[in-house]
Amino acid sequence: MLKKTAPEYFDVTVGSIHDFGNETKDFEFLFDAGREIRFIAGQFISVVLPRDGKVIRRAYSIASPPEEPRHLNLIIKRVEGGLVTNWFWTLKPGDRFQVHGPFGKFILPDPVDFEPLFIATGTGVAPFRSMIHSLLSAGFKGRMSLLFGARFETMIPYHEEFQELARRYPNFTYLPTVSRPTPAWKGASGYVQTQVEKLLANPAAVRVYICGLNEMIQPVQQVCLKAGLPKDRISYEKYD
Ligand SMILES: Cc1cc2nc3c(=O)[nH]c(=O)nc-3n(C[C@H](O)[C@H](O)[C@H](O)COP(=O)(O)OP(=O)(O)OC[C@H]3O[C@@H](n4cnc5c(N)ncnc54)[C@H](O)[C@@H]3O)c2cc1C
Repeated sequence: MLKKTAPEYFDVTVGSIHDFGNETKDFEFLFDAGREIRFIAGQFISVVLPRDGKVIRRAYSIASPPEEPRHLNLIIKRVEGGLVTNWFWTLKPGDRFQVHGPFGKFILPDPVDFEPLFIATGTGVAPFRSMIHSLLSAGFKGRMSLLFGARFETMIPYHEEFQELARRYPNFTYLPTVSRPTPAWKGASGYVQTQVEKLLANPAAVRVYICGLNEMIQPVQQVCLKAGLPKDRISYEKYD
């Protein structure tokens, strides 16, 4: 049985930073010696930033699995005029700051006795990267799928990593879809909502988890309901 832990404050050090392009980066944060975070895949942490005598906090889903508690990865999209994301863009390896967590109820039940279908666009992939790695490393043998939508094929974070997981684990289906593909793109095209039914062949066994901005969550939910999925088998985490 997965047990939630009480949130704590942690000082972290910036480790590696990976630039995916499209104003999106993966940041690795390292915990101090003797400290580690206990969380459940799908939870988020708050970044705590002192500014002008006030404390600013922003939520970020943890993109790394709980089996790696000595560090965490966040995937962050820079928002135009955004206070905290623009501060992230000033960070370099070795910089230090504070996070508070874990928080959140966007988690899988234990046991996972159904087929999870994860649907995301943009940085909404974060909780699913954590869940997918966690399930596979625990030996999950059921079917599970990740449907990821991007505008261009150059805007798919962790693309090679998910392709490799799908090759290694036949029970994991990875379906990236691109709404404005170039002629070179050989995969699926269109918005995520146009691809959902492909992965709902067995709706009675599936539970859908959606993460990202509201403009995507709404239509995806509608498609799932229309395909016959009961409302209580659809969960989502909204970033805006
Ligand atoms: C549970 C949860 C998890 C989240 N996880 C992530 C994550 O993993 N990665 C991530 O990048 N973000 C995530 N977010 C969004 C994040 O918390 C911030 O809202 C976002 O990074 C913007 O912060 P900011 O301080 O730069 O912008 P702000 O200064 O707060 O906002 C500046 C302007 O941008 C608009 N805006 C705010 N957020 C967004 C957005 N996401 N997209 C477009 N416009 C926006 C605002 O309306 C405002 O006009 C999550 C949010 C929630 C609630």
